[in-house]
Amino acid sequence: MGKNLDPKCKQCRRIGEKLLLKGERCSSTKCAMVKRNYPPGFHGPKGKKRLSDYGLQLSEKQKAKKYYGLSEDQFKLAFDKIQKKGGDIGANFLKFLEMRLDNVIYRSGLAPSRSLARQLVNHGHFKINDRKVDIPSYQTKIGQKITVRKSSFDNRYFKILPEKLKNIVSEQKSWLNVDGKELSVKILHDPRHQDLPMNIKTYMIIEYYSK
Ligand code: SF4
Repeated sequence: MGKNLDPKCKQCRRIGEKLLLKGERCSSTKCAMVKRNYPPGFHGPKGKKRLSDYGLQLSEKQKAKKYYGLSEDQFKLAFDKIQKKGGDIGANFLKFLEMRLDNVIYRSGLAPSRSLARQLVNHGHFKINDRKVDIPSYQTKIGQKITVRKSSFDNRYFKILPEKLKNIVSEQKSWLNVDGKELSVKILHDPRHQDLPMNIKTYMIIEYYSK
């Protein structure tokens, strides 16, 4: 399946939940889910359709996929990898998605959205333990330190980032230690239950893929 070209806010309205795809706008009153909390299209304001069990499972899978900004193939590949390992598939799957480099950059506040985090990684702005890494899906590991490369400090985005980070340090996740001045993140431990997104019902995704 190709790239999702549906406008970001429409994706949230279709799913019926905030997927936080647009950075700062998502926590403002400009958020489309505040202004028009109903599905897009002519029949939207009349409310949501009742879904079958299969429809609900499909919708939950779509939600998680859009939330992490992955294509169908990337999402399924990640799921298969975790399923093969066994154990608590639901929790392990979310942990796997959280430990992606693009997500860590987003969670630490170094980018306001996962899509921008992915772009910054793709453009080679980060190092992990002194080695440049430009792969958004890279699985970070406990103890690793992610830093902005010296050459990127002249970039306008990174010049003003330390000032922005001062205001959001309190929202950062406990499994990440962020240094807003140095623009670095250390992975302290893997995400715990309370660090995982509560709005994703992984049992439904497991049921969807087990058909
Ligand atoms: Fe979704 Fe609101 Fe962000 Fe738009 S602004 S992407 S509707 S959370």
